[in-house]
Amino acid sequence: MKSLETISEIALTLSNAGSFADQVRSVLEILGEQTGVSSVYILTGNGAGTAAEKEFEWRAAGMPAQRSVLQNIPFEVLSSWKEELLNSDKFCLDNISRLPPSLKAALEARGADSMVVFPLMAEDSVRGFICFEENRKCREWTAEELGLLKTISAIISGNFEKNISKERLKSSEENFHEFFDALSELVLIIDRQGGIVFANRSVESVIGYSLRELEKMNLVELHPEAAREKCLEIIRSLDGVRSEICGSEFKRKDGSLFSAESSYWAGRWNGKNSVFCLSKDVSREQENLQKFTKLFENNPDLMFLSSFSDGEILQVNNAFLRKLGYSKKEVLGKTGIELGLLVDEEKHRFISDGLKGKGRISDLELEVRCRDGSILNVLFARESIENSGDKYYLTVMADISEEIRLRRGLESQQERLKNIIMGTRLGTWEWNVKTGATVINERWAEMAGYTLEELQPISIKTWFKLAHPEDLRSSNTLLQTHFRRESEYYEFESRMKHKSGRWIWVMDRGKVTEWDHQGKPLMMFGTHTDITERKVLQWKIEQLSIRDPLTNIFNRRYVFERLDALLAEYRRNHGYFSVSLLDIDYFKKINDDYGHLVGDEVLKDFTRIITANLRPYDLLGRYGGEEFLVVSLNSKKEQTKTTLERILRSVTNCACVCKDRDVYLTFSCGLTDCFDYTRDQISVEKIIKKADDRLYKAKLLGRKQIVLYDS
Ligand code: GH3
Ligand code: MG
Ligand code: MG
Repeated sequence: MKSLETISEIALTLSNAGSFADQVRSVLEILGEQTGVSSVYILTGNGAGTAAEKEFEWRAAGMPAQRSVLQNIPFEVLSSWKEELLNSDKFCLDNISRLPPSLKAALEARGADSMVVFPLMAEDSVRGFICFEENRKCREWTAEELGLLKTISAIISGNFEKNISKERLKSSEENFHEFFDALSELVLIIDRQGGIVFANRSVESVIGYSLRELEKMNLVELHPEAAREKCLEIIRSLDGVRSEICGSEFKRKDGSLFSAESSYWAGRWNGKNSVFCLSKDVSREQENLQKFTKLFENNPDLMFLSSFSDGEILQVNNAFLRKLGYSKKEVLGKTGIELGLLVDEEKHRFISDGLKGKGRISDLELEVRCRDGSILNVLFARESIENSGDKYYLTVMADISEEIRLRRGLESQQERLKNIIMGTRLGTWEWNVKTGATVINERWAEMAGYTLEELQPISIKTWFKLAHPEDLRSSNTLLQTHFRRESEYYEFESRMKHKSGRWIWVMDRGKVTEWDHQGKPLMMFGTHTDITERKVLQWKIEQLSIRDPLTNIFNRRYVFERLDALLAEYRRNHGYFSVSLLDIDYFKKINDDYGHLVGDEVLKDFTRIITANLRPYDLLGRYGGEEFLVVSLNSKKEQTKTTLERILRSVTNCACVCKDRDVYLTFSCGLTDCFDYTRDQISVEKIIKKADDRLYKAKLLGRKQIVLYDS
């Protein structure tokens, strides 16, 4: 082995350009060839530093590729080795048979017969090993050989160390850049003349120049004209001890300006005296501050800022001073307690407890004392705020004195309304049209004979249950009209089932008081008035107008009205009817024989007999003195005739018992029906005329008979 040549060749290789890995590979090749071993390899610590991993290897021609026998052997196992290596700078193994059994087995498996191992040292600790392995024979290493290998190992070690610090420097530089780039603040490093040496990514994105452009610029160019002199002054004044903080304006590439707060300090960068500048864009904060100030000053609500620690008032707005009648001087530096602000002093504790608990207080109704002693009602809110790292309390008090006055007025108005409702004995109802939820008062229930309790659970269904089904239909029609805003009120007279089973009448009145955003009814308020008495009277009145007072059957006018309606229906192909005109035979004689009063009784008795033989929907009316009209619905004259014959038999056979006297009577009848006329010719007059003609004919034919044909 040519020692010196080898050493110089290796030193040359390591000083070559190229990566460290390439250099090491070349060195191993030289070493392998010069020593004539089977393989040379370098083991370094794995990532965890606990075991050796083969990093570089050279193999002699014909040597099979193998895992290093020392690969992944924990450093622990090699500890005895390490000792020896550290003590003797080498570990020489001319015969592996002297090794501990585990290691020996591992080496034998690889076919290693002898090897020399040198430690690779970096920063005073073992970082790996360089191993020379002989696989074909037990090799005797000469002292010269070992000396050379030791020297070479030391050279490689040195390079290892150099490489490690280079790597570390590189990664620390990367970290440094990453650190600066991660900052949202602008970082600028400048020389003493203001020339930009370094700028982080924030500068690029906020100011708009590329890093390349920035490196050719001076810091003053990033400021507007007016701020440049001050900037230079600061740079010059820095002495390495002081740092300077100042607010200044920056100018973006597009010419726009923004406010920043910058700190400057002197330091060294790349071995040169430099100035570091760290700037923070505070335009947003300034904007917020301006906004806050504007909002604070001009807010119509009373506002003040107080110290977080002792409650001293630090700032008040105009509304506060104006409404409470204080001057700024009288208020600043005082606490709310000192000013006697709260009428109820107990509330101070309540507020501070609330703040401790939730950090904020809101919607608290309070009475606040003005300077002149008058009282203001306010809605109180307080919360802690932070500004530039300091903590304050912001208190906002909305003046609600007017609302309170209105509310009190409203309350007394409601009280009066309640009294009126009580006094007028109105039933009231409130109905949520959407949900059906309904509230009624005691009187509402009382009208129907119930207590509120008995009607529970109350909903709109309570009304549906009690109202007359027929009336509900009409009521709904009117409600819909109101819901379409076609009527100002809903108003309807409805029957309602009383607890006793009878029907009562209520005047149901209401109005939608709230509409939803789609214009649909939401809340409706209404009243019930008991109108049963009025309605009963009205019946009565109606009865009088349509009934014959003596016999209580319908009067002639009413029957004629009904005939009109029936005729109209008939013309529209709805049903048909027959009409009979009855006249008591020789009634004058009854009057003459028994007196007029008996005659009256006979008339009443006669109507009772007729009614008993008619169907409920047939009509019986008094046409004149002893003449009667019968309208039989959906009955042709032949059918009706049967009924009349039955009546005739009835009155003929059964005497009317009047004042102990038996009175017998008969009647004559003219009968006609719709089918006696063409549909377009029929009229009430014609019908009556025909019935009358036939009655006359019946009289002529000898009375006590029914005539239904003209000939
Ligand atoms: P005819 O068979 O032709 O019908 O003979 P009549 O006597 O029944 O007929 P007429 O028209 O001559 O007499 C009708 C009588 O009926 C005359 C009138 O005094 C009597 N009359 C009419 N209205 C009443 C009444 O309200 N009460 C009583 N008691 N009699 C009445
Ligand atoms: Mg008559
Ligand atoms: Mg008569």
